[in-house]
Amino acid sequence: MKNILLALTLLTLLALPALTIQAQDLPASWEELTSADFVKAVHLSESLCILPMGVVEKHGQHLPMGTDVFIARELSLLAARDEYAVVFPFWYAGQIFEARHQPGTISYSPELLYRMLDETCREISRNGFKKILLVNGHGGNTNLIQYFCQAQLESERDYAVYFFNASLDPETNRQIRAMRKSTTGGHADEVESSEMAYTRPDLVHLDRATTESGEDLNRLPLPGAYTGIWWYAKYPNHYAGDAKDANPQMGKYVMEKRVEKLAEVIRIIKADTTTRHLQNRFYREATAH
Ligand SMILES: [Zn+2]
Repeated sequence: MKNILLALTLLTLLALPALTIQAQDLPASWEELTSADFVKAVHLSESLCILPMGVVEKHGQHLPMGTDVFIARELSLLAARDEYAVVFPFWYAGQIFEARHQPGTISYSPELLYRMLDETCREISRNGFKKILLVNGHGGNTNLIQYFCQAQLESERDYAVYFFNASLDPETNRQIRAMRKSTTGGHADEVESSEMAYTRPDLVHLDRATTESGEDLNRLPLPGAYTGIWWYAKYPNHYAGDAKDANPQMGKYVMEKRVEKLAEVIRIIKADTTTRHLQNRFYREATAH
């Protein structure tokens, strides 16, 4: 009995330093943590790492090329403040062949894109995170990310990859529609420009928003068929919508609503034990015959 008590006291004492460290004492950004604090951060995050994904591409004449990375990262960092998680550094390896005709675009090959994402997840896992949440800021990444998630079943791994794909509530969408002046959009538009006007106002040049057209040219009507040139057929300037009325108030509203959703999803994923359980069962069944 005495030995048990002694052991318990020792265990409590050993656990104390870990317990006294709170999430608010640690940065959420991976690159801002020291190597020693990183170990505590993995523990505090309940081994959940967010990988915010963007791309480097033209965003009309008025937004910086890193817009999607800035927004995805800000969203992740704000959500991690509510529900602690570690946020991976700037990620700009995205699918963006459709903007190769615009200056400054970085578009890697399909093979490299896939491998970069796969090896990054493996590295994240090797460092202790067993839940990886992809938070996407670039529409052109969506198909790649979904395919990547499906491909996780190809062979066994000791972590699960999740894709944050929650949409905003109908009431929030109604509010956003009421706040907007423009009715078209899709890229570097009024909403995205508002998010940037809130996130990085120093990089937004709204006075240039009308120097190029963001109108849908609709040059390739092909009902019932999909082809890679569809986006260029519509928006050769790589600008879809009209951003001239963008403003930080709308940006704040949209970002806060998206942050709420993301924090909610982080909580759900932290509590989730079924994904890994079913994944492991699946890997066993897939190799048993
Ligand atoms: Zn964008």
